[in-house]
Amino acid sequence: MAPCTLFSGPTSANVPIIHPKPTDVVIIGAGPGGLLLALYLLEKGQGRFKVSIHEAREDPRETLKRPPSPRRSPLGIWHRGLAALQRIEGLWPRVNAVGAPAFVCKVWVLGRFLSVPHRAEDSPKIVTDRCALCAAMMDLLLARYGGSGLLDITFDQRCTSVDLRTRSVTFAAPAPSADRNSEGQPGPDQASDVGEWNRTNGTGITKRYDLIVGADGVHSVVRQGIVQSTRRFDFEQRDIGWEWLVTRVPVPPPPVKGDWGLIVLGKPFALLTPGCPSLEGDSQMNFVIGWTSHEKPPEWHACTTAEDAKAYLDRAYPWLNIPLKSAEALLKQRVNTSMQLKCSVYHDTEGRAVLIGDAAHATSPTLGQGCNTALEDAATLASLLLETETVSELPDALESYSGLRVPEGHALVDVAESQGPMDRWGVIRNILNMVWQTMLNRLFPKLFPPHILISVSAGKPLSEIYKANKGFVDSVLASNQRAVRRLTEKRNQERTDAMLAKRFKAAPAGS
Ligand SMILES: Cc1cc2nc3c(=O)[nH]c(=O)nc-3n(C[C@H](O)[C@H](O)[C@H](O)COP(=O)(O)OP(=O)(O)OC[C@H]3O[C@@H](n4cnc5c(N)ncnc54)[C@H](O)[C@@H]3O)c2cc1C
Repeated sequence: MAPCTLFSGPTSANVPIIHPKPTDVVIIGAGPGGLLLALYLLEKGQGRFKVSIHEAREDPRETLKRPPSPRRSPLGIWHRGLAALQRIEGLWPRVNAVGAPAFVCKVWVLGRFLSVPHRAEDSPKIVTDRCALCAAMMDLLLARYGGSGLLDITFDQRCTSVDLRTRSVTFAAPAPSADRNSEGQPGPDQASDVGEWNRTNGTGITKRYDLIVGADGVHSVVRQGIVQSTRRFDFEQRDIGWEWLVTRVPVPPPPVKGDWGLIVLGKPFALLTPGCPSLEGDSQMNFVIGWTSHEKPPEWHACTTAEDAKAYLDRAYPWLNIPLKSAEALLKQRVNTSMQLKCSVYHDTEGRAVLIGDAAHATSPTLGQGCNTALEDAATLASLLLETETVSELPDALESYSGLRVPEGHALVDVAESQGPMDRWGVIRNILNMVWQTMLNRLFPKLFPPHILISVSAGKPLSEIYKANKGFVDSVLASNQRAVRRLTEKRNQERTDAMLAKRFKAAPAGS
């Protein structure tokens, strides 16, 4: 499978005039953040930016043709994501077309469906999936800039390192042959041969840049480059202990039909959201199941055949009647884990490197704002870059970007964690807090802020939401820290006990 570079495509009638020396922006990662940034720079830059996007995986439009995979995790587009998308003319209708309306939320608890009372404005604007969103942006990018000479998009090309000193980036050398697995993941070492690049001796291909953007998700290689050369760069990353699998299932019979979200509070936790009606009709839903890593369901892990998996899922969700094919798809999938990440800054001035989206601030999906914040990052960075006239002005733009976005990124991580307490008392306290705060806000709106989830859905800055709820958020974070300590101690004790038991068993009797 050769890496593919998309230089061409239908050319827009209004191809921008290319600046005599456009700023060479290299974007690593064609996720929602990277693609939206490219659209902004090309759409509003009047030919001043030349953008190349390098993506380790295949074109998302190809992934949409494959069986369900974690690349197609469901996404709610809320107010802040909508605002960022709407500023690009013609983009929202395309995204809207691959989403489903979102209006009702039900919770399956203690064997019954309960409707959660909430207003339309507190719902996501649409629910779609990550790949469908990326494919919609790709289509627009190629339709408008495919033949402009300002855009290169290369798939199946993994960035391996970034050298901020020489302002160059290296990609893995192409593998002679590589097969894709069922998730569309290519072989580990692939890259393409793009005209102006220098080949290094068998170790890969390097390319110089004026600005490099790390839109390459939580395991960002651009961030590694920043870590190596920026003294004041600090980051904190941890596995949040949440594991999940995703597939598609036929829409179960009423009362599920038409609901935007069905949350199943049980073990394992499950989430059903509408699929993409324009892509696959309205008969399919996204189905995510998840558990915490210390509560892995042993019955699921004991399943070896599709029939076992179906029997287990039928016991856990009898109203779903999961097809054998979907149960098999789940069983075959590698369990996905989620990371939490906070960085002290999002850029390096000298090396002209900057991070957006999950590369800068990853969180658990409890708040449903990771992608929305990535889109907001892209819009903010673009507006600062668009104010620059020359490359020498980039450092100031990057400083301002960190100044604006670090408080938002930190608040996103903390507020999201506050919605995922790790012990039973924490869960009860969160439910009481939600009921209590909603009541007080309805009675005395001027005195009491709305509940966190309501403020988040209205698109209020996350740093303001954190400030308004600081006491509550900090107390959940502290109790989560205690829970992690208890779990680690328990795990260490179990490991020591197992080791001692093994040693005593191995020792000959009487010795
Ligand atoms: C189950 C689940 C539900 C979610 N629900 C929501 C929701 O409702 N609302 C919401 O806003 N967010 C949600 N999120 C979070 C959301 O998916 C992410 O925050 C979002 O995808 C981040 O976008 P991004 O562009 O920053 O990074 P990503 O989407 O991670 O994209 C990064 C891209 O970079 C590529 N890449 C990585 N390394 C390299 C490399 N070395 N070289 C080249 N390319 C590379 C990757 O292949 C990938 O395509 C959810 C997440 C999960 C798991």
